[in-house]
This record gives sequence, C-alpha cells and structure tokens, in this order.
Amino acid sequence: MSKEAETVFKRRKRSTTQITDNNEFNYTVYHTLEEIYKWITDTANENYMIASREQLSTSHEGRPVTAIKLGAPGNQGNKPIAYIQGGIHAREWVSPATMMGLVKQLIDGYNTNDKVKAMLDTFDWYIVPVLNPDGYSYTWTNDRMWRKNRRKPDGNVCTGIDLNRNYAYEWGGDGASPVSCSETYRGPSPLSEPEHEGVTSFLLEKQQTNGVHLFLDVHSYGQYWLYPWGYTGSKTVPLPDRRDLRSLAMAAEDAITAKHGMDYFVGESGPDFYPAAGASEDWGYGALGAKYTYVIELRDEGKYGFLLPETEIKYTVEEMFEALLVVGERLISEFGS
Ligand SMILES: [Zn+2]
Repeated sequence: MSKEAETVFKRRKRSTTQITDNNEFNYTVYHTLEEIYKWITDTANENYMIASREQLSTSHEGRPVTAIKLGAPGNQGNKPIAYIQGGIHAREWVSPATMMGLVKQLIDGYNTNDKVKAMLDTFDWYIVPVLNPDGYSYTWTNDRMWRKNRRKPDGNVCTGIDLNRNYAYEWGGDGASPVSCSETYRGPSPLSEPEHEGVTSFLLEKQQTNGVHLFLDVHSYGQYWLYPWGYTGSKTVPLPDRRDLRSLAMAAEDAITAKHGMDYFVGESGPDFYPAAGASEDWGYGALGAKYTYVIELRDEGKYGFLLPETEIKYTVEEMFEALLVVGERLISEFGS
C-alpha cells in the first residue's frame, strides 16, 4: 500500500468511528469499491419504489459497472433518460463520493422537495458511481495516483488505457497518446475497452427508445464545468447548441457559487481547458446526441488535487446538488411532456 493510501485508511478509520452510527452509511468519507458495491445493493433494496440497480458493463477484471436507476414508475417505461457517470479516472476519489451523495440527496428529496419529485417523476436517472472499478480498486491497494483502467492489450509495454481518450468520436487526435505507457493512452481502437462496451450500447439504445438528454461525466479536479468540443482547440467548429449549453452551465455555476462560494470555470472543453480527442463529452454530444453533455471537474483548484480531504466531500455534494436542481429544471421544461 502506498503512503497516501495508508494515510487515507487511517483517517477513514478515525472518521468512521466518529461520524457513523449503527449501520448508517457514512457519506463524508471515501469508500472502498466493496463498500460502494454494498451501498449500491442496499440503496436499491431500501428504496425499491424509486431506486433499482442495473449492471451495464463488466470490467476487464470481471467487476460489474453498475448504475443506480432513480425514477418514479410511470409512462410505460418510456420516460426520457438523464445519465451521470463518475469514477472514469481511478484516482479522482471525490467523484464516486459525490455520485453517492447526489443519489442520497435525490432519494431523500423525493418526498420533501418539489423540484426533486418533478425530476424523478419526469425522467429516469441513471447514475454510475464508478465507471472504472478495476482502476479504483487498484488505487486502494497499490497506487493511489492510478488513472487508467487495468487492461494490457497483447504487445503493449504498459498496463492501462485512458478510458477518457477511448471514446468513439474523433478518436486518436490531439491530446490522446498512441503510447501505452502514457497517462492519456487512447487504447488500440475506439471503444476497445470492456468498461465502455455495455454502457455505450445501453445509452445508444435508450436514445432510440426513450431519448437521452443529459450526459454528465464527473471528474476532479480544477472546478470546471465544460461543454464540447473537446477534440479541438478551435471555437469555429460548429456546435449547434452552444448557446443553450453555455446558459445552463452558467446557471449551474451560479447555483454552485450561491451555496458555498466556490467558483467553477465555465467554458469549452478543448479551447478553454485543453484539447483531448476521444473524450466523453464529444461522444456524449456528437455520437450519442445528448443535448446537455458536460464534463465537470470537481473540487479543488489544486491545493490537494486528487487527494482532496474528506472534510470537503459534504460541501462538494451540497453545491453539486444545487447545480443538479438547476439542470433538472431545464430538462423538465425542455423535454418533459
Ligand atoms: Zn479525470
């Protein structure tokens, strides 16, 4: 175990005994993959009226990539879909923690918050806490700073593909490396990785039957709320929904700032952040066709980076929940019938 992982284990032990009572899940600490899987099962079982779980992919090492589905029954299964994924990059621990916190807020809010009720009545929300379970597990056991998945294709020197350079849209361009030892290795071919296989085919199918209108890919760190395109640094490439993508991002950012005073930078992924071909936002918008597609980089701005202290999980969840309410309102007004 690395020094960082050891420190986290120790801190976790202490905070768990301080905060948790009985069997209640502690949303203010980082959790192992096994704990997250148990949480998924428990959450679906305990809230079966509005929650269920669905395995979408199987990882290279055989672990499930599972979504929590939130939504009130109705509309003969034809409700439009909102999709959120976390944990594509293994070391970004606050991402899965935030996914779980948001699920908790949405479940609790269903009976207490009219906005949440409308969100779950109108849409089915699929939330994947950990898209890259092999990598996440590896950050707890071997290397806290691991980013990629854990597959090593025949003939490669190094292990791991950057799942966020492996999407099938402008695959292989700028900011995506052909070298297997690179942190941004694109993989042998577009969507070559098993973690993507089931998830992407599920979403493409749902787009045909139900409509998928939100695709959020949640990372850390840097405090960014980014929209396409990611593969190019040019702002002259046509982006039909630029005005709406930007206005919703700005409204979400306002809600974040209003909660705890944090600033998130809103911009175009490639031109304003850095070009990265084969990334999720281009696939979500360009291939899947989800109008509201964003990449979010959660806290912080770099002081702790990937090693964000657990004390900030709660605040990260709270501000993202406010942003999600704003997103939900827009989705309902545009796509709710
Ligand atoms: Zn990332």
